[in-house]
Amino acid sequence: MSAPTRPTGTGAYTDGTGTFHPPERRIVRGAEIHGERRVRVDACVIGSGAGGAVAAKELAEGGMRVAILEEGDWHDTDEFTARPREMLRLLYRDAGQVATLGEPPIVLPLGRAVGGTTLVNSGTCFRTPPRVLARWRAELGLEALEEEALEPFFRRVERILNVAQVPSELAGENAHVVRRGAERLGWSGDFLYRNVRGCVGSGVCAFGCPSGAKQHVGITYVPRAWAAGATTYTGARAERIEIEHGRARAVTARTRGGGTLHVACDTVIVACGAIHTPLLLRRQGIRDASGQLGRNLAIHPATGVRAFMDEEVDMWRGVPQSYYVDEFAGEGLMFEGAAGPPDYMAMSMPGTGALHRARMDRARQLSTFGVMVADTSRGAVGTLAGAPRIRYDLDAHDTARFRRGLELLTELYWAAGAREVIVPVRGVPPLRDGDSGPLRRARVRARDLELMAFHPLGTAAMGADPARSVVDPNGCVHGVRGLYVADAAAVPGALGVNPQITIMTLATRLAFHLLGAPAPAGEPAPERLPALA
Ligand SMILES: Cc1cc2nc3c(=O)[nH]c(=O)nc-3n(C[C@H](O)[C@H](O)[C@H](O)COP(=O)(O)OP(=O)(O)OC[C@H]3O[C@@H](n4cnc5c(N)ncnc54)[C@H](O)[C@@H]3O)c2cc1C
Ligand code: SF4
Repeated sequence: MSAPTRPTGTGAYTDGTGTFHPPERRIVRGAEIHGERRVRVDACVIGSGAGGAVAAKELAEGGMRVAILEEGDWHDTDEFTARPREMLRLLYRDAGQVATLGEPPIVLPLGRAVGGTTLVNSGTCFRTPPRVLARWRAELGLEALEEEALEPFFRRVERILNVAQVPSELAGENAHVVRRGAERLGWSGDFLYRNVRGCVGSGVCAFGCPSGAKQHVGITYVPRAWAAGATTYTGARAERIEIEHGRARAVTARTRGGGTLHVACDTVIVACGAIHTPLLLRRQGIRDASGQLGRNLAIHPATGVRAFMDEEVDMWRGVPQSYYVDEFAGEGLMFEGAAGPPDYMAMSMPGTGALHRARMDRARQLSTFGVMVADTSRGAVGTLAGAPRIRYDLDAHDTARFRRGLELLTELYWAAGAREVIVPVRGVPPLRDGDSGPLRRARVRARDLELMAFHPLGTAAMGADPARSVVDPNGCVHGVRGLYVADAAAVPGALGVNPQITIMTLATRLAFHLLGAPAPAGEPAPERLPALA
């Protein structure tokens, strides 16, 4: 019998019903733990983001006693004011100011809360591209990562998150400008698929969705984990993993109340994200044979092009990341929406004084769109005076691809009817009247580019060979029984698409492996999904 189908059209996207409400919230606030607290569970999951929340829910539903440790706090939807400056401080690590050192320095924001970075992400959903899986199978011995074998896990994640396509009427004018340019050039693109229920296009996804529409793991997976008996400890920063005779035995966390939480367990799942997972593992004295722990950092560096149009774009209306152009995905270039509310726009608008003011006076006509590179550059995570230090230099190949990506996006904007285009390259003046000459003639070096990145990956990479990878094909740290990685750190390299579905799918697969359960049967097939060029 064939599996049922799951709708992915306008109805699924705009219907606000179906959010899971747990019978009780099982949260223990670390701020209230002042002395020593000891608990015993089957599995301790560290981090409640894309990887951790998913692993915790599946393990708890499979019958394990689960504790989730999260350094950040639980936040109710009512706290989301839609004001970027307030939300950056509340929901992001270091108020969103984490950055790489190197050429060029790159801002790399990370979420810190129940839900991890999914609480503040844009909600874009792509499965792992088949060409990436094929590369991992060929180069890393990840033979089990066949599309067919992963299908039930992808479907399960997409059902729980309600992945559906942004309808044209909620996509915002910014998307329509870019779509027009792409269609005139004959380039492939479409409205994005996102994890939402009842999205109203309020445009502030990166600052906490004030209508509770975005189906981040804090309101999808974590409540299901609670309903199955798991407990979340917030304000609890894991510092020590006890390893005895090559087997993980317990985790100790420092609590916000100045106490300690000791969690005895047989299984430890580390899911602190690609920056903090390798640092936590290193602190335990784990020295992998590959020397790759903390290295191999890919980040999908990205930047945005700004264009002034004749029409009113009002970028703050509609879903900020609602459209993509994948014509050049084979070259490792993805173009995706990058809109935002006016105050955020003002903070990031280039220029000062009268120039800045003149540009903001034309804010209603402004359109911006992003280019993201599937990087070959690799960075490393370490510590300096006890604080995380992220080193990343953009290589010549990626620099050349940024140049190409910016030229292509400029061409798209000319095709869409732009009057003026501003590219984020130092020394290149605003481009006018369809003339990309100043950009084409410019010498573009890595240090001339103004970049951001949102997808750190690969610092505890998965692979079959312990001499070349940190975790095995299921996510177990080579050489340490009972210690697993279930987050972006395990994803072995750049994907070229947004990573949350890949991370969640691998975390689901890991949980089923730990439970000794077969892949889930009967998960509904999505009606439609993006077909990447
Ligand atoms: C602005 C923005 C937009 C994005 N948009 C998209 C998008 O549209 N689509 C997409 O696929 N991806 C997007 N991403 C990326 C995506 O959200 C991340 O790749 C994903 O959430 C990473 O999952 P993770 O489990 O590795 O880490 P996270 O989700 O970051 O979770 C890690 C958690 O671990 C906690 N933690 C860390 N150290 C400790 C410790 N020692 N003890 C206890 N807890 C700890 C952290 O506080 C955090 O909550 C975006 C990211 C950003 C910043
Ligand atoms: S556009 Fe608004 S309603 Fe839709 S997910 Fe983003 S913040 Fe929530």
